[in-house]
Amino acid sequence: CATFYAYTDPENPNIFFFAGTTADITERKMEEQRRSDFIGMVSHELRTPLTAIKAYTNLLQRIAGKNNDKMLVSTMEKVDTQVKRMEAMINGFLEVARLGEGKIRLNITRSDLASLFKIAEEDSLVTINSHKVIFAPTETTPLDVDQDKIEQVLINFINNAVKYSPPGTTIEVSCITKNGMAQVYVKDQGMGIPIADQPFIFDRFFRVESDAMKDKKGFGIGLYICKEIIERHHGKIGVESTEGQGSVFWFSLPVSII
Ligand code: ADP
Repeated sequence: CATFYAYTDPENPNIFFFAGTTADITERKMEEQRRSDFIGMVSHELRTPLTAIKAYTNLLQRIAGKNNDKMLVSTMEKVDTQVKRMEAMINGFLEVARLGEGKIRLNITRSDLASLFKIAEEDSLVTINSHKVIFAPTETTPLDVDQDKIEQVLINFINNAVKYSPPGTTIEVSCITKNGMAQVYVKDQGMGIPIADQPFIFDRFFRVESDAMKDKKGFGIGLYICKEIIERHHGKIGVESTEGQGSVFWFSLPVSII
């Protein structure tokens, strides 16, 4: 951690001095950048062979279906699932690299909170059966946003809530509008985040290191992407969490004037 000292001028006690070093923070940022550049480059190279693997997988799936070869059909389904996982990872890494280069463009259109909630609710009905996801009723608050990107943030919060809390627990998605900002909350009853780690939770590649995290896989890029997306919309993002009790991830966006 960086160290700072504050002291006063002995001749004039009204003058304060601050001295210290941010060298280790800079070093951490440089390391982050090196990692990001490398991963971006590798991911780009991996995309071409992956596209070929996807095409051959689809071909084999069609052949297996035509020949009514049940074993091949089920094997190819498994291959397909893994290929899609790998594709999602590579796309995530490429998105991080593009964000770092400032290359992501937003496609802003008029949307509203109720539609965003509805899409996320439909998605979680299809993809989540281990937890109870409850969406609070919401107003049709107008928002000028890149709808896909904000949806990505909301779904990422919900998926993390699922990943980091025990099966059978409840996840609540809600919203309030105040002072011209729409604030969205995703609350879980999971492992929570140690207080010392909370300031770094939205940093690139940051993951909590604890016993509870041992079997949780990930790369620590999801929340970084969320933060970039929200900040590009002039919004704010944050978390309130108690270790062992649960977390509330939130973001807020300016409400559009009709
Ligand atoms: P990943 O989940 O792939 O590690 P993220 O960027 O989404 O990456 O999250 C970063 C870290 O933040 C996670 O590794 C985990 O330690 C912590 N985290 C995120 N969401 C939650 C949550 N709902 N509850 C507890 N910890 C969380």
